[in-house]
Amino acid sequence: ALVLRDVWKIYKTATEEIPVLKGINLTVRQGELAIIMGPSGSGKSTLLSIAGGLENPSRGNVIVGGVDITNLSEDELTKIRARKIGFVFQSFNLIRNLTALENVMMPLIFTGIYSWKQAREIAQKMLEIVGLKGHEEKFPRQLSGGQQQRVAIARALAPSPDIILMDEPTGSLDVDSASRVLSLVKWLNEAFGQTIVIVTHNPEIAELASRTFYIRGGQIFEQPPTTTLADKVKEVKASTKKGELE
Ligand code: ATP
Ligand code: MG
Repeated sequence: ALVLRDVWKIYKTATEEIPVLKGINLTVRQGELAIIMGPSGSGKSTLLSIAGGLENPSRGNVIVGGVDITNLSEDELTKIRARKIGFVFQSFNLIRNLTALENVMMPLIFTGIYSWKQAREIAQKMLEIVGLKGHEEKFPRQLSGGQQQRVAIARALAPSPDIILMDEPTGSLDVDSASRVLSLVKWLNEAFGQTIVIVTHNPEIAELASRTFYIRGGQIFEQPPTTTLADKVKEVKASTKKGELE
């Protein structure tokens, strides 16, 4: 599970202080697929980076898989992050001079749990799972955008993290690649009960979500589950049927 407790983020520039997050409380439980929406500049990426331990909150706590990650040393944080958190960036963020396989191995090595040999075996398996068998030795520039995003997902998944955080995972992909990534996300959540938090505007991903959140004015709001798109469609279908009967 992921818990954010009264999380604030205030960016300080030379002349002003900009409060972006103003006391965010959020709990995403095991197996949930939560999406976060909100206008550009509302703080979605900031929130995700704080949840993933990539940035410190100005105030408040972040608890991932029972561990408060807010006051860890850099060393501890690196290990915990590698073990508990998978982060998928909008722009893939693969390391350019490492092969696909080496990119996936990296967080496994950072956990301090696996040997190189074990990391290699797991990474191979993960690449196979995301449909990239045979592409292990390619460098990022030799892969398409969708393939790079799937390497990034394999990398995020490899250490079996408590939670996967994705920032606009289909944002820079064409329709076909986006739909492959979408199926992968759906499968991870349904088949393995993987906890996933996605910042997205993709309506197809929004439809998969078990919980939907909005950020506005530094606050987070949950959309009541009865008004998800899937439910709306059901409601419309039901009322149409009723209408036909009457
Ligand atoms: P988008 O949908 O465009 O990706 P977002 O909701 O992800 O937007 P953030 O990237 O979280 O928005 O940014 C939120 C606000 O914080 C913006 O006003 C941005 O300018 C500001 N901001 C982000 N990073 C910094 C920083 N390092 N220093 C100062 N301000 C920042
Ligand atoms: Mg963003």
